[in-house]
Amino acid sequence: MEVKIIGGGLAGSEAAYQLAKRNQRVTLYEMRPNVWTPAHKTPLLSELVCSNSLKSKELTNAHGLLKEEMRIVGSLVMEAADCTSIPGGKALVVDREAFSRHITAVIEKHPLIEVVREEVERIPDGPCIIATGPLTSDKLAEEIGRMIGQNRLYFFDAISPIVEGDTIDMGYAFFASRYGKGDKDYLNCPLTEEEYDLFYNELIKAKKVEFKDFENTPYFEGCLPIEVMAERGRKTLLFGPLKPVGLIDGKTGKRPYAVVQLRKENSAGTMYNMVGFQTKLTYGEQDRVFRIIPALKNATFLRYGSIHRNTYIKSPELLNRNLSLLGNEHIFFAGQITGVEGYMESASIGFVAAISMLFFLRGKELPPLPEVTCMGALMKHILTPTEKYQPMNINFGLIEGYRKREKERVIGEAISNIKRWIDEVERGLYGTSIR
Ligand SMILES: Cc1cc2nc3c(=O)[nH]c(=O)nc-3n(C[C@H](O)[C@H](O)[C@H](O)COP(=O)(O)OP(=O)(O)OC[C@H]3O[C@@H](n4cnc5c(N)ncnc54)[C@H](O)[C@@H]3O)c2cc1C
Repeated sequence: MEVKIIGGGLAGSEAAYQLAKRNQRVTLYEMRPNVWTPAHKTPLLSELVCSNSLKSKELTNAHGLLKEEMRIVGSLVMEAADCTSIPGGKALVVDREAFSRHITAVIEKHPLIEVVREEVERIPDGPCIIATGPLTSDKLAEEIGRMIGQNRLYFFDAISPIVEGDTIDMGYAFFASRYGKGDKDYLNCPLTEEEYDLFYNELIKAKKVEFKDFENTPYFEGCLPIEVMAERGRKTLLFGPLKPVGLIDGKTGKRPYAVVQLRKENSAGTMYNMVGFQTKLTYGEQDRVFRIIPALKNATFLRYGSIHRNTYIKSPELLNRNLSLLGNEHIFFAGQITGVEGYMESASIGFVAAISMLFFLRGKELPPLPEVTCMGALMKHILTPTEKYQPMNINFGLIEGYRKREKERVIGEAISNIKRWIDEVERGLYGTSIR
């Protein structure tokens, strides 16, 4: 029986290769060049739609560690990146065309993969992997929406920055809930009037990322970028996300002039979300302007805020632990549509989807990915129910048990565990390792 993969991007190409490498026949559907997304420009598989940087290559950075895991498991996307890299300092930068050509050539030459250049409008019968990414075509998005419920399919990200818990200055920040209600769930970062004025003045003149034509959608009033709110007047934020009412700073015994609230992003408290700080500021400007908040002066930003077009599903409510759809166990999702963000993150979930599919076809249970690995941490993100599910790039805060001072141990554990996992996978599939 063949597996159909919809979408020949980073995730779909990785999945096709991993299946075919393990003797599974695949048909890979890619709509380009017959139908274009608003961002892709070539007919190549695995096109990089924007930057040609795949981010850090250093092991001490979670992006670098994810890459090392991908090397260990035998990723095609990683192989292409290593073969086509160009100088880029600490980042793994690739020759974008050579990178996509490398992947296209491997896929198109593989005897067990047939590439069909066609837009898929209906989810096919039989085992399939949906990997159509952030710019899934409208017709297929409608079909997915009908299947999973429109309220579980999103078309836009409006995400706030996330900071690393250990790097927030507790000399300034304090835990409290408004009016003392609740369990002191929020970590509050106070500003004096002078600090607020400085923050406000820098915020309104900071550089923003322009929307692409296809992203020009009116903002929802309840989800305005912080800088757009600020443009409405100096006091708007003081009645919005920076309102201090009901909050007393124990250190001064007074209500601060303004307060930025941070909410835990995970139960371990390694990541905190800046509430109401969705933004179109450039990453550099976020780094500059948000550090004016005294408690965040030396904070590590694990994720910057952004607002952009992005098709993704509410995975934690919809997917089984092997990435298949609850109630339709032959349909798997992979890549950015599952709620990860970024080239390498998407490719890694393409890898996991392919392996999961092989176990499913053999009627076997997928060995769970250790949560101490980057790939396991991304899977945990995809599968953990949260109040508001939002896409996430890899960062150390996602990794189980991470604390900054233990970085060396975290790296060692991730590498040894991913090796153990992939051996377990190969033994589960063949009784022996094919690496
Ligand atoms: C404008 C923009 C800029 C970005 N910039 C960056 C960046 O700088 N760095 C970064 O790491 N990430 C960036 N991303 C995110 C990045 O594109 C994704 O993380 C990554 O490409 C996702 O991989 P994927 O395989 O899930 O989807 P994609 O790589 O997008 O692949 C999906 C494929 O499915 C095809 N397809 C869609 N619908 C159908 C259909 N119905 N039938 C057949 N084929 C279909 C598409 O043509 C596409 O080839 C950006 C995304 C966008 C939209």
